[in-house]
Amino acid sequence: MSNCAIVGINWGDEGKGRMVDLLTDRYDIVVRFQGGGNAGHTVINERGKFALHLLPSGIFREGVVNILGNGVAVDPESLVREMNEVRAQGVALTPENLMISDRASLLMPWHRDMDELEERRLADKKFGSTKQGIAPFYSDKFQKKTVLAGELNYPEHLREHLMALMEWKNLTLTKVYGAEPYTWEMIERWLNDYCALIKPHVADTGAFLKKAQTEGKSILFEAQLGSLRDLDYGIHPYTTSSNTMAAYAPIGSGLPGARIDEVIGVVKAYSTCVGEGPFVCEMFGPEADKLREAGFEYGAKTGRPRRVGPVDIVATRYGVEVQAATAIALTKLDVLSYMDRIPVCTHYRLNGELVDRFPFPAALDDCEPVVEYFDGWNCDISACRKWDELPEAAKNYVLYIEKQIGCFIKYVSVGPERDSIIVR
Ligand code: GDP
Repeated sequence: MSNCAIVGINWGDEGKGRMVDLLTDRYDIVVRFQGGGNAGHTVINERGKFALHLLPSGIFREGVVNILGNGVAVDPESLVREMNEVRAQGVALTPENLMISDRASLLMPWHRDMDELEERRLADKKFGSTKQGIAPFYSDKFQKKTVLAGELNYPEHLREHLMALMEWKNLTLTKVYGAEPYTWEMIERWLNDYCALIKPHVADTGAFLKKAQTEGKSILFEAQLGSLRDLDYGIHPYTTSSNTMAAYAPIGSGLPGARIDEVIGVVKAYSTCVGEGPFVCEMFGPEADKLREAGFEYGAKTGRPRRVGPVDIVATRYGVEVQAATAIALTKLDVLSYMDRIPVCTHYRLNGELVDRFPFPAALDDCEPVVEYFDGWNCDISACRKWDELPEAAKNYVLYIEKQIGCFIKYVSVGPERDSIIVR
């Protein structure tokens, strides 16, 4: 038995879903341990092209059990929509291959409202939230003002609990934001239309995982977003509202004592960032447009154009360190094939000094990128399946990144399809 976490090293959208989909054949169970439906994993395999938001990326493999852990923001409405989409594409979802932790909190419709209302209040100071209700959800979870998925099995208790929460939330909605209050009819509709459909999947996944562990089963922990969006270690306050760290995987999964044998950090061969916040290595103008087009860098959930830049050694080294990555998957190397010379952000300049350690978030706005150029390879590498098939210039680029971040690049991805991968 061996356990592995697949995590993002940068700002998210590194291609984690693609790596989980590739590696799930070695694992019995895939657990999403944090985050909500506010980001998207795009997975392309023999069954089609899928945009996953909440469902773990192991859902396409027969025999693999997929779990939404207690650390996840389970939004019944989004989840039902996503389940319907995936089912319409021919993927079976049953209580056997998709389980939801009974200890996971449910994202309520009012969390989405709160997100929207607060972004509107902030106007030009907004955080660029995806308005999926994630920040209000986690705030309420920490205030113990959420219901747990397992409460769906206790209708009387649930009704009382939800009534009390609604009364409390209506105070903020009406008195702070001047919005309409919720009524019990609205909540009942939500319970019938969405919660009833996910209820068969709710289970004591902690007990299930514990048993699986004693039986020697292997578990893959899947993260959403990346190191720089981690609530504690990221670019505060432009982070997400949960912990994207591999170290959080056992806690957010329901197996707090789990040992993680391997942490695969996913790094994109260049940088992208969605939403607001400091992004030191950002490129602008036609150069940026070209890279955005080449990599098709538009948000899977929102369609928003992603900000782009060269690979950022300073941020990536930090991401590797905080994730304690044991190996790296470098994705989208093929996207850089059009470039005559490849830019790399090697350092930051801060107050006239060269910096190679990722600075405190408040200092990031004063940092400028130091960019060096590497030779491009100017040929299509998407058919390469072995390290030696890569052109020298591409190998040099990968080896340079590896040396700078101090972690072995075990996988080099040269296309979005499952088999477009080089394993070293
Ligand atoms: P995630 O949230 O980390 O899973 O990343 P996303 O799914 O948001 O973004 C990764 C995107 O890049 C998806 O559209 C993938 O299909 C695509 N992708 C992943 N690896 C590669 C690759 O090596 N080359 C190319 N061209 N696309 C890739």
